[in-house]
This record gives sequence, structure tokens and C-alpha cells, in this order.
Amino acid sequence: METLEFQSEARQLLRLMIHSVYSNKDTFLRELVSNASDALDKLRLETFRDKDLVADTSDLHVAVEVDREARTLTVRDNGIGMTRDEVIGLIGTIAKSGTAEFLQKLKESKDAASQDLIGQFGIGFYSSFMVADKVTLVTRHPRAEGVRWESTGEGTYTIEDVADAPQGTSVTLHLKPADPEDHLADYTSTAKITEIVKRYADFITWPIRLAKEDGAEPTTINSRKALWARPASEVTEDEYAEFYRHVSHDWNKPLETIRMHGEGVFEYQALLFIPSQAPLDLFMRERKRGVQLYVKRVFIMDDCEELMPEYLRFVKGVVDAQDLSLNVSRELLQQDRQIQLVRRRLVKKVLSTVKGLMADKPESYETFWREFGGAVKEGLLSDPDNRDAILDIASFASTADAGKPTTLAAYVERMKDDQQHVYYMTGDSRATVENSPHLEALRAKGFEVLILTDPIDEMWVDAVPGYRGKTFQSIAKGQVDLETEEEKARAQERQKDFADFLEWMSTTLTDRVKEVRLSSRLTTSPACVVGDAHDLTPTLEKMYRAMGQ
Ligand code: ADP
Ligand code: MG
Repeated sequence: METLEFQSEARQLLRLMIHSVYSNKDTFLRELVSNASDALDKLRLETFRDKDLVADTSDLHVAVEVDREARTLTVRDNGIGMTRDEVIGLIGTIAKSGTAEFLQKLKESKDAASQDLIGQFGIGFYSSFMVADKVTLVTRHPRAEGVRWESTGEGTYTIEDVADAPQGTSVTLHLKPADPEDHLADYTSTAKITEIVKRYADFITWPIRLAKEDGAEPTTINSRKALWARPASEVTEDEYAEFYRHVSHDWNKPLETIRMHGEGVFEYQALLFIPSQAPLDLFMRERKRGVQLYVKRVFIMDDCEELMPEYLRFVKGVVDAQDLSLNVSRELLQQDRQIQLVRRRLVKKVLSTVKGLMADKPESYETFWREFGGAVKEGLLSDPDNRDAILDIASFASTADAGKPTTLAAYVERMKDDQQHVYYMTGDSRATVENSPHLEALRAKGFEVLILTDPIDEMWVDAVPGYRGKTFQSIAKGQVDLETEEEKARAQERQKDFADFLEWMSTTLTDRVKEVRLSSRLTTSPACVVGDAHDLTPTLEKMYRAMGQ
């Protein structure tokens, strides 16, 4: 037997759990059942993929057992289990992104608020320590020997090999005494267990069994109905929210829930969620997509990129297809015309749902764009077919109203009668753009300018031709044509008057600039440097330079 130390972040989180005054302690059971359900999904999948794997899949299920005498509660599954290294890696450390930030936030906030954060973080296996003073886990992976892990949650845990461990994982909680003051129910009560499972895990498609009385046969206590297969009118918002938590591991409520189905040659049902908060790793390269593929209610894969493009990677949920083989592989999916069709429909539906939010729930839309706009704009480059739909739901900072972003439709609405372009300027920040001399002339003439400060903005403005017949025009590039015919004639006159001066300037600055011209843009600054129409903008130039090009 070996005694090991928890990683320091894990230790901090455990201390929080042990001393938690979080009022919703029942949620530990949802965590354990959710892990068991994932483990069953994984085992079934492994046996599809690897015919040599020795595992019994004839009766995959979750069993909950109570022992009133010993005051223990055990959640058992016959799923994939864990190897010794996995137990140490998965249970002894916290790999979850954002843990450090989370702990920092907790430290900074006062008690009541911090308890709420616990719920939002998605507490996982460690939540067991809210209700137990000791936890024992016995597990066996089909390709490894069994291991037994035990801890009181205080700094260290023990780990040892065990012979004859059954397939899968059992987690036994040595329960703290019931204490209503401390929100600790009697978790040896089968009525209480049934109630919690019904509330939090009814949709789990694996049977969850419980023996209601001593010596009685265990019976299945969840209804096992997939939410997406039930009539939409029968499913409550709470049930959707609960399911969202299960698939997303995000403890906030979803911003929007989307149900779809397709009939005919290719039958499918989809239940998608738009989260209300961007994950911390939204812009990290290895970030996974959030849509799971099921075939006839059977979980097939996480992170199904064939069903959701990268720019909608934050969308979570499930697509259940009727007419695919359970053996379907990523390679087959990539070639499947029907899958491509479903993907197109899902994308259109997500985009149109957001458009609906703009009209019906402006606050939700604002949240959406603030959290996910940066990712969605990537679609302007990668998904030309949906460009217009994306532009329709986009909004941008603008000189029209410093406090509120504008949509392109609203910009066009405000355009002057003969204005041909949507003017924009890119830059690192709103301040850089606003202090730029380029903005002066346009401001002076009352033109509105979009202020684009996302790195991705530099990319798409070059690739996207226009919006509703109006082209995008950078005010920092080439000649911005703001003049009437009369003004142009006058400008030409002036150009002649200043010919000698301009000639002299051009020769003096010959190594530094291509050309010197009179400008009608400036009102208070005496001069400014502009790029050629085909030049890179300063920000892009900086980006390329930073990339070493
Ligand atoms: P999460 O489920 O969000 O990953 P948890 O703290 O609930 O976080 O669990 C951590 C990890 O431990 C899981 O991702 C899984 O790999 C492993 N694990 C937990 N419970 C089980 C189980 N019953 N069977 C197999 N692996 C498990
Ligand atoms: Mg979990």
C-alpha cells in the first residue's frame, strides 16, 4: 500500500468540499451517477472498436446500494474502470482548465457568494466529501489489475493493488451523520436516494438500480427515456437544464435550448444547447467541440466534428441518428452525404436561433455575442455559404454609440443617402482607433465608423465582399471617397496650387513614403500616414511581424 499526496489545487478544492456550507449537497449523487454513466458509455464504445477487449457488456448498469448499519452508500458501475495510473491522474489531480482561476475567485469572494460558485464550477467526484468523511474507490480497467483508493480528503490518499476486483468502479461513501442544519440529509434512506436520482438523473439511459428494502431485489428507479425522444411539450426546462449539465459539465443554465428532428431518408433527432458563458479555453487550439453522436439511443462519440463546424465549437448537445451503423467511424462519417446534410441543417438552425434572440430576447443576444462573437466571426472565413447569416447576427463597436455595439442592419439603416460603403477601422483597442487621425474627417462629415478590435476582424474584412450590396471600406487604406463632385473639383485645384510643395515633400521623403498627397480627411491633425488600398493594415502588419513573417 502506498500513501500519496493530492496535488495542491486538488487539496484546496477538497478542503472546500469538506467544510462546505453549500446548501445543495444532494448533488454529490448526480456527480457519481454521471461518472458511472460515462464509464458505461466508454466501455460499450471500446468493445465496438476493439474486438479483443475482454469485457462483459451483457448487463451494463449502475447499482446504488445502502448499508444502514455501516452507514455507507455505494455507487457501482460495470463500466470501463480505471488503471492505477488513471486513478492517480484523474482522482489525485485536477486537470480541469480554469481550476486556478476558480480557486482564486473563491478566495476573493465572501462566504455566501463563494458557495454559489461551487455549484457553478462543476464539482465532480470530490463532491463526495461534502457528505462523507471517508471515500473508498475500487476499480478495474479491462486491461489492468484492480486498484483500491481510499481517502479522508485531508491531504493524502492510499492506493493499493487488489486481486479479483470486479469489472468497473465502485465508490463507497462513509457518510457523515445526517444533519438538517448543515443540509445533510439521511443518504441511507432509499426514498431520499430515489428522489435525488429522479430529479437529477432520470434521463440517464442506463438502468440505475436500487434495492428499496433490506434483502429485496434491486429495481430500476430511473425512467431511462432519452430527453430528445420525448415530445417537446412534455419536457420541463429543469429537465433540459439537468441534461445540459450532464453533457456539458457546465453548471450554469444554458442560454438557449434547441430541438430539431429530421424525417425521411435520414431520420435524426437533435437536442442542442447554447451555453450562457464561454469556457476559458474557447480560443485554445486543441479545444473540442461539444456535440455528441448517438445512434438509436446508443452513445457513439463525443466531440463529433462532422456535425458542428469549428466556429460553433461552443454548442453542446446530442444528435441521435436512426440510420447509421453502431460501428460508424470518423472516416465513414466524413464521407457520409447525409451527415453533411444534417450538419448544414444544424448550422442554419443555430444561426437562425441566434437571429431569433436578437428580435425576441435582446439581452440573451447580447450575452451570446459578448461570449461567443469572437468564435462565430471565424465562420465568415471558413463558411462562405453562411456568410450573410453570420453577418446578420454580428454586432460591432461603432462611433454611433460608445456604449452599445451595432448590428450591420442598423448601421445600413443610419447610412447617408449616397453612402456606398460600410466604413470601419481596425486597431488594438477602441482608444487607438478613436485617437487616430483617420477618424477625424469621417467624424467631421458625420459618417459612422465601425471600430473593429478583435484580431479575427483583420482577417474577415479582407475576405468578405460586403453586406447587402454595401462594401466594407477601411478608413485607413487608400482614398476614402467622401466628396461631392464640386468638392472634388476644388480639391484638384488645390492639388495644382500645392504641386511644388508636394513635389519637394515627395523627394525629401522618398525612402519613406510612396507618394505625398493633399488630404480632405483631416480636420485638426496636420498630416497622417495612410496605407495603399492593397497594403496590410498596421495591425495585420504587426501580427505578421509577430509571427515572424
Ligand atoms: P469529470 O466527470 O467532470 O471529468 P470528475 O471529478 O467527476 O470530473 O471525474 C474525474 C475523472 O475520473 C473522470 O473524467 C473519469 O475519467 C474518472 N472517473 C470518475 N468516476 C469514474 C468511474 N465511475 N469510472 C471510470 N472513470 C471514472
Ligand atoms: Mg464527473
